[in-house]
Amino acid sequence: MFDFPVAIPLMRRAIYPGSFDPVTNGHLDVIKRARKLFDEVIVAVAHNDEKQPLFSLKERLDLLRETAGKIDSVRIAELKGLLVEFAKTEKAGAVIRGLRAVSDFEFEFQMALMNRKLETGVETIFLMPKEEYTYLSSRIVKEIASLGGHVSSFVPACVAKALNRKFNR
Ligand code: ADP
Repeated sequence: MFDFPVAIPLMRRAIYPGSFDPVTNGHLDVIKRARKLFDEVIVAVAHNDEKQPLFSLKERLDLLRETAGKIDSVRIAELKGLLVEFAKTEKAGAVIRGLRAVSDFEFEFQMALMNRKLETGVETIFLMPKEEYTYLSSRIVKEIASLGGHVSSFVPACVAKALNRKFNR
């Protein structure tokens, strides 16, 4: 019997962190693009108490499970502690962030470089959504819903329903 060293292909795994308050079609577009590049994508939901989310952590996780969680090899998780530590624990080599416009850039650039400083082994990868989602954000969707506007072309149906319930519509 020969004793070959066996080459085990490494699983390419990425983390997509965010508040997802709530998940929009823009987030889903980014997740699908990330899945083309990575074997597994972990969508990591931050608590983000200082942002005072409209949806509780559990609600945000449930809405993601009902939508992104249905995509093959996409896992939904709660993000606890430092992102780079979470990436190391999950054996993920990359962090995915979405870039919509120049206005996203400054904050994202700062965060990517800080994460690299904290952990050189984790790369940040920016993905641009389909043009029609470049103006879409969770904040704007919440604003439209709160004023009684229709949001069904911006978010999955279960999210539109959850928004209507929040605003008693
Ligand atoms: P955070 O609270 O971390 O800013 P969000 O939950 O709003 O995050 O979004 C998570 C990530 O998804 C961020 O990188 C954000 O830029 C990106 N993102 C949000 N909406 C869109 C969109 N419509 N198209 C592309 N990327 C998006």
